[in-house]
Amino acid sequence: MSRLVMKFGGTSVASPDRIKRAAKRVAREVANGHDVIVVVSAMAGKTNELIGWVDETSPFYDAREYDAVVSSGENVTAGLMALTLQDMNIPARSWQGWQVPLRTNGTHGSARIEEIPTANMDARFADGMRVAVVAGFQGISPEGRITTLGRGGSDTTAVAFAAAHDAVRCDIYTDVDGVYTTDPRITSKARKLDRIAFEEMLELASLGAKVLQTRSVELAMRYRVKLRVLSSFEEYDETAGTLVCAEDEILESNVVSGVAYSRDEAKMTLLGVEDRPGIAAAIFGPLSEAAVNVDMIVQNISEGGKTDMTFSCPVDQVGRARRALEEARAAGAYDYAELIADQEVSKVSVVGIGMRSHAGVAARMFQSLRDENVNIKVITTSEIKISVLIDRKYMELAVQALHDAFGLDRIGQPTGL
Ligand code: ASP
Ligand code: MG
Repeated sequence: MSRLVMKFGGTSVASPDRIKRAAKRVAREVANGHDVIVVVSAMAGKTNELIGWVDETSPFYDAREYDAVVSSGENVTAGLMALTLQDMNIPARSWQGWQVPLRTNGTHGSARIEEIPTANMDARFADGMRVAVVAGFQGISPEGRITTLGRGGSDTTAVAFAAAHDAVRCDIYTDVDGVYTTDPRITSKARKLDRIAFEEMLELASLGAKVLQTRSVELAMRYRVKLRVLSSFEEYDETAGTLVCAEDEILESNVVSGVAYSRDEAKMTLLGVEDRPGIAAAIFGPLSEAAVNVDMIVQNISEGGKTDMTFSCPVDQVGRARRALEEARAAGAYDYAELIADQEVSKVSVVGIGMRSHAGVAARMFQSLRDENVNIKVITTSEIKISVLIDRKYMELAVQALHDAFGLDRIGQPTGL
């Protein structure tokens, strides 16, 4: 029988009543003839609460016990979902990570999946089980201890099961009805996309469109899992949600599919560093050791053997970055004249696979920002993305202007683009 993976996020399983509603969707897929693997998150807010308890109990916690505690929210919803399905006369059984077993490496708190053997579950399906309810977010380390996959990790659990079981599709039920051209809270003109390519979703996910954990999209792309994002609060039909799929399944790709943003960025500049081989390594090595997520990097032209080095990072990492840079300087790794941090910037990006074959996207983007009098501080580009750093106070304005400039409000209609 064909396998289908259905994942329900925290708001979709936030109470016994919501679990019942989700179970009805599962029942429909069982009636359609699928064997279903349901992956559940913890009830909305539960994981935060558990993390709070760990912090309260032990500020310098043992990561193994952190995982033992924070993985427990999913155990509850998995059991409740199995009970609900059984009450609907559907043969269902819950599975915790170790029972599958979903094997991960030993990096507690952000473990990576290494293997999902299918034999146990296959045998139970062959015995008449119709639904396996899997506790998302958790696995088992080589030492036999419980691990968790990082925040939002149930998405990754779901995609990994879809890949391992060669599922026909992986449906991610959430509280939004799909992936949008931009954040609908910023412009009411944002539109739902019917389809989006893995590469585009990856850029949007890593830029902070919080619908899917980035790693789940990476995994779906690698194993070509058809991924659908849809709302568990809306009436179901075949075209509901957004399909995240391979590029060749999208007939007419948009030049730009989305405008993404990351509000809380900082721009740090080292003025007057020596321009010599190894200087970038000397600067960015210590930053990486201090776990600073450096994003954009620009090195200016040099004058008199000196240059300026600019990079961006999340604003809440500025303190850490500054300390790492100052310590490396004190240790004699390099010298600089001044270190400046601009903590009032945001990143805005346009993303689209159509960019590969269309010239002039950058020009149009810059023109549109100029028309709004928005100054660009740093620019970076990749094959399918152009990002700019701008003053935070213009972020909404920039997103709205770019959304208009690329005709995203007309997606799905003939645009002449
Ligand atoms: N419950 C976990 C979290 O809140 C995992 C997930 O829901 O995906 O991060
Ligand atoms: Mg999530």
